Amino acid sequence: MRVLSDLTDDEVTAAVAAAGGKPFQAKQVLHWLWKHGVTDFAQMRNVPGKLQQALAAGHALRHGTIGKIDAAEDGTQKLLVALRDGETVECVIIPEGERTTLCISSQVGCPVGCVFCASGMFGVRRNLSAGEIAEQVLLAKSVLPEGRRLTNLVVMGMGEPMLNLDALLPALQRIHDGAGIDMGARRITVSTSGYPRQMERFAAADPSYNLAVSLHAAEDTLRKQLVPTATATVAEIVAAAHRYFGQKGREVTYEVVLLDGKNDRPQDAVALVETLGSLPCTVNLIPWNPVEEIATATGLRRPHSHRVDDFADLLRRGGLKVTVRRQRGADRSAACGQLRLRQLGGAPAGARG
Ligand code: SAH
Ligand code: SF4
Repeated sequence: MRVLSDLTDDEVTAAVAAAGGKPFQAKQVLHWLWKHGVTDFAQMRNVPGKLQQALAAGHALRHGTIGKIDAAEDGTQKLLVALRDGETVECVIIPEGERTTLCISSQVGCPVGCVFCASGMFGVRRNLSAGEIAEQVLLAKSVLPEGRRLTNLVVMGMGEPMLNLDALLPALQRIHDGAGIDMGARRITVSTSGYPRQMERFAAADPSYNLAVSLHAAEDTLRKQLVPTATATVAEIVAAAHRYFGQKGREVTYEVVLLDGKNDRPQDAVALVETLGSLPCTVNLIPWNPVEEIATATGLRRPHSHRVDDFADLLRRGGLKVTVRRQRGADRSAACGQLRLRQLGGAPAGARG
Protein backbone atom coordinates (compact mmCIF):
# COMPACT_ATOMS: atom_id res chain seq x y z
CA MET A 1 0.00 0.00 0.00
CA ARG A 2 1.42 3.38 -1.01
CA VAL A 3 1.14 6.23 1.42
CA LEU A 4 0.05 9.53 -0.11
CA SER A 5 2.10 11.68 2.27
CA ASP A 6 5.27 10.21 0.74
CA LEU A 7 4.40 11.25 -2.81
CA THR A 8 5.47 14.35 -4.71
CA ASP A 9 2.83 16.53 -6.39
CA ASP A 10 3.52 14.82 -9.73
CA GLU A 11 3.18 11.38 -8.17
CA VAL A 12 -0.15 12.36 -6.57
CA THR A 13 -1.33 13.68 -9.95
CA ALA A 14 -0.40 10.33 -11.52
CA ALA A 15 -2.15 8.39 -8.74
CA VAL A 16 -5.31 10.47 -9.12
CA ALA A 17 -5.20 10.00 -12.92
CA ALA A 18 -4.82 6.23 -12.48
CA ALA A 19 -7.88 6.32 -10.21
CA GLY A 20 -9.86 8.09 -12.95
CA GLY A 21 -9.47 11.67 -11.67
CA LYS A 22 -8.33 14.94 -13.25
CA PRO A 23 -5.26 17.08 -12.43
CA PHE A 24 -7.36 19.69 -10.58
CA GLN A 25 -8.66 16.91 -8.36
CA ALA A 26 -5.08 15.96 -7.49
CA LYS A 27 -4.64 19.53 -6.26
CA GLN A 28 -7.78 19.16 -4.14
CA VAL A 29 -6.52 15.88 -2.67
CA LEU A 30 -3.16 17.49 -1.80
CA HIS A 31 -4.98 20.41 -0.24
CA TRP A 32 -7.08 18.15 1.98
CA LEU A 33 -4.04 16.17 3.01
CA TRP A 34 -1.60 18.99 3.79
CA LYS A 35 -3.73 22.09 4.39
CA HIS A 36 -6.69 20.61 6.24
CA GLY A 37 -4.89 17.57 7.64
CA VAL A 38 -7.76 15.13 7.03
CA THR A 39 -7.16 11.56 8.13
CA ASP A 40 -9.65 9.83 5.82
CA PHE A 41 -10.42 10.06 2.09
CA ALA A 42 -14.13 10.31 3.02
CA GLN A 43 -13.46 13.72 4.56
CA MET A 44 -12.44 15.19 1.18
CA ARG A 45 -15.82 16.78 0.59
CA ASN A 46 -15.34 18.12 -2.94
CA VAL A 47 -13.76 14.89 -4.21
CA PRO A 48 -16.35 12.52 -5.74
CA GLY A 49 -17.06 9.38 -3.69
CA LYS A 50 -15.98 7.09 -6.54
CA LEU A 51 -12.59 8.77 -6.75
CA GLN A 52 -12.23 8.68 -2.96
CA GLN A 53 -12.86 4.94 -3.01
CA ALA A 54 -10.56 4.27 -5.96
CA LEU A 55 -7.75 6.14 -4.21
CA ALA A 56 -8.41 4.50 -0.85
CA ALA A 57 -8.17 1.05 -2.50
CA GLY A 58 -4.47 1.50 -3.20
CA HIS A 59 -3.37 4.22 -0.80
CA ALA A 60 -3.27 5.21 2.81
CA LEU A 61 -3.17 8.94 3.60
CA ARG A 62 -0.55 8.96 6.33
CA HIS A 63 1.87 6.70 8.20
CA GLY A 64 1.69 8.01 11.74
CA THR A 65 -0.79 8.34 14.55
CA ILE A 66 -0.33 9.86 17.97
CA GLY A 67 0.50 7.03 20.35
CA LYS A 68 0.78 9.14 23.47
CA ILE A 69 0.92 12.78 24.56
CA ASP A 70 2.99 13.87 27.50
CA ALA A 71 2.06 17.41 28.56
CA ALA A 72 4.24 19.42 30.93
CA GLU A 73 3.07 22.26 33.14
CA ASP A 74 4.90 24.89 31.08
CA GLY A 75 2.79 23.99 28.02
CA THR A 76 5.35 21.74 26.34
CA GLN A 77 3.68 18.75 24.69
CA LYS A 78 5.69 15.72 23.73
CA LEU A 79 4.08 13.43 21.17
CA LEU A 80 5.02 9.81 20.74
CA VAL A 81 4.27 9.03 17.10
CA ALA A 82 3.33 5.43 16.27
CA LEU A 83 4.37 4.32 12.77
CA ARG A 84 2.87 1.54 10.65
CA ASP A 85 5.66 -0.95 11.31
CA GLY A 86 5.38 -0.55 15.09
CA GLU A 87 8.36 1.83 15.40
CA THR A 88 7.97 5.09 17.30
CA VAL A 89 9.50 8.56 17.10
CA GLU A 90 9.00 11.73 19.09
CA CYS A 91 8.12 15.30 18.32
CA VAL A 92 7.75 18.15 20.79
CA ILE A 93 5.61 21.29 20.76
CA ILE A 94 7.25 24.14 22.67
CA PRO A 95 5.16 27.29 23.27
CA GLU A 96 7.13 30.41 24.26
CA GLY A 97 5.17 33.65 24.28
CA GLU A 98 3.86 34.32 20.79
CA ARG A 99 6.17 31.71 19.33
CA THR A 100 5.34 28.01 19.07
CA THR A 101 8.19 25.77 17.96
CA LEU A 102 7.81 22.19 16.80
CA CYS A 103 10.80 19.87 17.13
CA ILE A 104 10.62 16.90 14.73
CA SER A 105 12.57 13.66 14.23
CA SER A 106 14.39 12.51 11.09
CA GLN A 107 15.26 8.88 11.92
CA VAL A 108 14.11 6.11 14.25
CA GLY A 109 16.99 6.16 16.72
CA CYS A 110 20.33 7.60 15.64
CA PRO A 111 23.58 6.04 14.37
CA VAL A 112 25.85 8.77 15.73
CA GLY A 113 25.80 7.66 19.36
CA CYS A 114 26.73 10.88 21.19
CA VAL A 115 27.51 9.74 24.73
CA PHE A 116 24.94 12.01 26.40
CA CYS A 117 21.96 11.40 24.09
CA ALA A 118 18.98 9.09 24.62
CA SER A 119 18.17 8.93 20.88
CA GLY A 120 21.44 7.22 20.06
CA MET A 121 21.41 4.63 22.85
CA PHE A 122 20.18 1.77 20.67
CA GLY A 123 21.68 2.94 17.40
CA VAL A 124 19.52 3.63 14.37
CA ARG A 125 16.56 1.40 13.50
CA ARG A 126 15.77 2.99 10.17
CA ASN A 127 15.36 6.25 8.28
CA LEU A 128 12.02 8.01 8.31
CA SER A 129 10.37 8.48 4.94
CA ALA A 130 9.58 11.96 3.60
CA GLY A 131 5.94 11.52 4.59
CA GLU A 132 6.81 10.34 8.08
CA ILE A 133 8.95 13.45 8.61
CA ALA A 134 6.45 15.97 7.22
CA GLU A 135 3.40 14.37 8.86
CA GLN A 136 4.75 15.22 12.29
CA VAL A 137 3.66 18.78 11.53
CA LEU A 138 0.09 17.63 10.82
CA LEU A 139 -0.02 15.56 14.00
CA ALA A 140 1.26 18.48 16.06
CA LYS A 141 -1.25 20.88 14.49
CA SER A 142 -4.07 18.53 15.43
CA VAL A 143 -3.31 18.89 19.15
CA LEU A 144 -2.41 22.60 19.32
CA PRO A 145 -4.45 24.55 21.86
CA GLU A 146 -7.07 26.98 20.46
CA GLY A 147 -5.52 30.17 19.10
CA ARG A 148 -2.00 28.74 18.78
CA ARG A 149 -0.29 28.13 15.48
CA LEU A 150 3.12 26.71 14.74
CA THR A 151 5.55 29.51 14.04
CA ASN A 152 8.90 27.68 13.94
CA LEU A 153 10.19 24.24 13.10
CA VAL A 154 13.45 22.64 14.24
CA VAL A 155 14.77 19.28 13.07
CA MET A 156 16.33 18.51 16.44
CA GLY A 157 14.41 15.42 17.48
CA MET A 158 15.62 11.88 17.07
CA GLY A 159 18.15 11.13 14.36
CA GLU A 160 20.87 12.79 12.32
CA PRO A 161 19.12 14.73 9.54
CA MET A 162 22.19 14.90 7.27
CA LEU A 163 22.22 11.10 7.11
CA ASN A 164 18.68 11.07 5.72
CA LEU A 165 18.72 13.93 3.23
CA ASP A 166 16.90 11.90 0.56
CA ALA A 167 13.78 12.03 2.73
CA LEU A 168 14.48 15.24 4.64
CA LEU A 169 14.74 17.53 1.62
CA PRO A 170 11.35 16.60 0.07
CA ALA A 171 9.80 16.67 3.55
CA LEU A 172 11.06 20.21 4.20
CA GLN A 173 9.87 21.22 0.74
CA ARG A 174 6.42 19.92 1.69
CA ILE A 175 6.47 21.80 5.00
CA HIS A 176 7.61 24.96 3.24
CA ASP A 177 5.24 24.66 0.24
CA GLY A 178 2.72 27.49 0.13
CA ALA A 179 -0.06 25.18 -1.11
CA GLY A 180 0.42 22.97 1.93
CA ILE A 181 1.74 23.72 5.41
CA ASP A 182 3.32 26.97 4.24
CA MET A 183 6.06 27.54 6.80
CA GLY A 184 8.70 30.09 5.73
CA ALA A 185 12.22 28.71 5.23
CA ARG A 186 13.55 31.33 7.67
CA ARG A 187 11.50 29.68 10.37
CA ILE A 188 12.95 26.22 9.72
CA THR A 189 16.23 25.10 11.34
CA VAL A 190 18.07 21.83 10.76
CA SER A 191 20.59 20.67 13.35
CA THR A 192 23.49 18.37 12.52
CA SER A 193 26.29 16.73 14.45
CA GLY A 194 28.56 17.60 11.53
CA TYR A 195 28.79 15.87 8.13
CA PRO A 196 30.60 18.24 5.75
CA ARG A 197 29.79 16.44 2.49
CA GLN A 198 26.09 16.23 3.33
CA MET A 199 26.11 19.85 4.53
CA GLU A 200 27.28 20.80 1.02
CA ARG A 201 24.32 18.97 -0.45
CA PHE A 202 22.00 20.65 2.03
CA ALA A 203 23.47 24.00 0.98
CA ALA A 204 22.77 23.24 -2.67
CA ALA A 205 19.07 22.69 -2.00
CA ASP A 206 16.50 25.45 -2.32
CA PRO A 207 15.28 27.35 -0.34
CA SER A 208 17.63 28.57 2.41
CA TYR A 209 16.93 26.95 5.73
CA ASN A 210 18.79 27.78 8.94
CA LEU A 211 21.63 25.51 9.96
CA ALA A 212 22.63 24.58 13.51
CA VAL A 213 25.80 22.59 14.17
CA SER A 214 26.21 20.52 17.34
CA LEU A 215 29.86 21.19 18.10
CA HIS A 216 30.06 20.48 21.87
CA ALA A 217 33.83 21.01 21.89
CA ALA A 218 36.34 22.84 19.70
CA GLU A 219 39.17 20.47 20.45
CA ASP A 220 39.17 17.23 18.43
CA THR A 221 40.15 14.73 21.14
CA LEU A 222 37.45 15.94 23.52
CA ARG A 223 34.87 16.15 20.73
CA LYS A 224 35.65 12.57 19.74
CA GLN A 225 34.93 11.47 23.32
CA LEU A 226 31.50 13.09 23.13
CA VAL A 227 30.69 12.17 19.51
CA PRO A 228 32.61 8.89 19.16
CA THR A 229 31.60 8.12 15.58
CA ALA A 230 32.59 11.55 14.23
CA THR A 231 34.87 11.22 11.23
CA ALA A 232 35.17 14.89 10.29
CA THR A 233 37.47 17.16 12.30
CA VAL A 234 36.25 20.32 14.03
CA ALA A 235 38.11 22.39 11.41
CA GLU A 236 36.33 20.54 8.57
CA ILE A 237 32.92 20.93 10.19
CA VAL A 238 33.36 24.62 10.93
CA ALA A 239 34.67 25.23 7.39
CA ALA A 240 31.58 23.52 5.92
CA ALA A 241 29.29 25.56 8.17
CA HIS A 242 31.06 28.75 7.17
CA ARG A 243 30.62 27.87 3.49
CA TYR A 244 26.92 27.43 4.24
CA PHE A 245 26.83 30.96 5.60
CA GLY A 246 28.69 32.21 2.52
CA GLN A 247 26.26 30.53 0.15
CA LYS A 248 23.00 31.17 1.98
CA GLY A 249 23.66 34.29 3.99
CA ARG A 250 22.27 32.58 7.06
CA GLU A 251 24.28 32.84 10.25
CA VAL A 252 25.05 29.43 11.70
CA THR A 253 24.21 28.51 15.29
CA TYR A 254 26.69 26.28 17.13
CA GLU A 255 25.19 24.15 19.87
CA VAL A 256 27.20 23.07 22.88
CA VAL A 257 25.62 20.59 25.28
CA LEU A 258 27.37 21.38 28.56
CA LEU A 259 28.48 18.47 30.75
CA ASP A 260 29.87 19.16 34.19
CA GLY A 261 33.66 19.06 34.33
CA LYS A 262 33.82 17.51 30.88
CA ASN A 263 33.45 20.32 28.32
CA ASP A 264 32.46 23.29 30.52
CA ARG A 265 35.97 24.15 31.78
CA PRO A 266 37.58 27.55 31.12
CA GLN A 267 39.97 26.02 28.58
CA ASP A 268 36.98 24.62 26.66
CA ALA A 269 35.53 28.13 26.41
CA VAL A 270 38.90 29.48 25.27
CA ALA A 271 39.12 26.80 22.56
CA LEU A 272 35.64 27.74 21.33
CA VAL A 273 36.62 31.41 21.17
CA GLU A 274 39.76 30.52 19.19
CA THR A 275 37.78 28.43 16.71
CA LEU A 276 34.63 30.53 16.32
CA GLY A 277 35.56 33.99 17.61
CA SER A 278 36.08 35.55 14.20
CA LEU A 279 33.03 33.98 12.53
CA PRO A 280 29.52 35.43 12.21
CA CYS A 281 27.64 32.97 14.39
CA THR A 282 25.80 32.41 17.66
CA VAL A 283 26.70 29.81 20.27
CA ASN A 284 23.73 28.17 21.97
CA LEU A 285 24.66 26.63 25.31
CA ILE A 286 22.45 23.71 26.35
CA PRO A 287 22.97 22.51 29.93
CA TRP A 288 22.66 18.73 29.66
CA ASN A 289 19.22 17.31 30.31
CA PRO A 290 20.11 14.27 32.38
CA VAL A 291 19.09 10.88 31.00
CA GLU A 292 18.96 8.64 34.05
CA GLU A 293 20.33 5.51 32.40
CA ILE A 294 23.25 7.44 30.93
CA ALA A 295 24.00 9.36 34.13
CA THR A 296 24.12 6.10 36.09
CA ALA A 297 26.35 4.30 33.60
CA THR A 298 28.76 7.16 32.85
CA GLY A 299 28.65 9.61 35.75
CA LEU A 300 27.82 12.48 33.38
CA ARG A 301 26.15 15.42 35.14
CA ARG A 302 24.37 18.63 34.29
CA PRO A 303 26.57 21.57 35.32
CA HIS A 304 25.42 23.96 38.05
CA SER A 305 23.95 27.16 36.63
CA HIS A 306 26.85 29.30 37.90
CA ARG A 307 29.26 27.19 35.81
CA VAL A 308 27.04 27.74 32.79
CA ASP A 309 27.03 31.50 33.46
CA ASP A 310 30.82 31.60 33.84
CA PHE A 311 31.22 29.67 30.60
CA ALA A 312 28.86 32.03 28.79
CA ASP A 313 30.79 35.05 30.16
CA LEU A 314 34.10 33.70 28.84
CA LEU A 315 32.60 33.23 25.40
CA ARG A 316 31.06 36.71 25.43
CA ARG A 317 34.33 38.26 26.51
CA GLY A 318 35.90 36.49 23.55
CA GLY A 319 33.46 38.33 21.27
CA LEU A 320 30.93 35.55 20.70
CA LYS A 321 27.15 35.95 20.70
CA VAL A 322 25.77 33.49 23.25
CA THR A 323 22.32 32.20 24.16
CA VAL A 324 21.58 29.76 26.98
CA ARG A 325 18.71 27.32 26.56
CA ARG A 326 16.25 27.26 29.41
CA GLN A 327 15.06 23.85 30.47
CA ARG A 328 11.61 23.10 29.10
CA GLY A 329 9.14 20.45 30.06
CA ALA A 330 11.35 19.80 33.04
CA ASP A 331 8.75 17.79 34.89
CA ARG A 332 8.64 15.10 32.22
CA SER A 333 11.18 13.11 30.28
CA ALA A 334 12.36 16.33 28.68
CA ALA A 335 15.35 15.48 26.51
CA CYS A 336 14.55 14.19 23.07
CA GLY A 337 14.49 10.43 22.84
CA GLN A 338 13.56 9.97 26.49
CA LEU A 339 9.87 9.36 26.00
CA ARG A 340 10.64 6.62 23.51
CA LEU A 341 13.27 5.26 25.86
CA ARG A 342 10.60 4.93 28.58
CA GLN A 343 8.34 3.20 26.06
CA LEU A 344 11.10 0.75 25.17
CA GLY A 345 11.47 -0.04 28.86
CA GLY A 346 14.76 1.75 29.54
CA ALA A 347 18.27 0.79 28.57
CA PRO A 348 19.68 -2.67 29.21
CA ALA A 349 22.23 -2.63 32.04
CA GLY A 350 25.67 -1.71 30.79
CA ALA A 351 24.39 -0.35 27.48
CA ARG A 352 26.78 2.56 27.96
CA GLY A 353 29.88 3.44 29.76
N1 SAH B 1 21.39 14.76 15.44
C1 SAH B 1 21.30 16.18 15.34
C2 SAH B 1 19.90 16.69 15.65
C3 SAH B 1 19.18 16.03 16.78
S1 SAH B 1 19.90 16.30 18.39
C4 SAH B 1 22.32 16.87 16.21
O1 SAH B 1 22.98 16.20 17.01
O2 SAH B 1 22.48 18.08 16.07
C5 SAH B 1 19.47 18.02 18.68
C6 SAH B 1 20.28 18.68 19.77
O3 SAH B 1 19.92 18.13 21.04
C7 SAH B 1 21.77 18.49 19.61
O4 SAH B 1 22.46 19.71 19.77
C8 SAH B 1 22.10 17.53 20.73
O5 SAH B 1 23.42 17.66 21.14
C9 SAH B 1 21.10 17.92 21.79
N2 SAH B 1 20.86 16.91 22.83
C10 SAH B 1 20.75 15.58 22.67
N3 SAH B 1 20.54 14.98 23.87
C11 SAH B 1 20.52 15.95 24.80
C12 SAH B 1 20.34 15.98 26.22
N4 SAH B 1 20.14 14.86 26.91
N5 SAH B 1 20.37 17.17 26.84
C13 SAH B 1 20.56 18.32 26.13
N6 SAH B 1 20.73 18.36 24.81
C14 SAH B 1 20.72 17.19 24.13
FE1 SF4 C 1 22.21 11.51 17.18
FE2 SF4 C 1 22.06 14.16 17.60
FE3 SF4 C 1 21.63 12.36 19.60
FE4 SF4 C 1 24.09 12.71 18.64
S1 SF4 C 1 22.85 14.26 19.70
S2 SF4 C 1 23.09 10.71 19.08
S3 SF4 C 1 23.69 13.05 16.48
S4 SF4 C 1 20.40 12.64 17.79
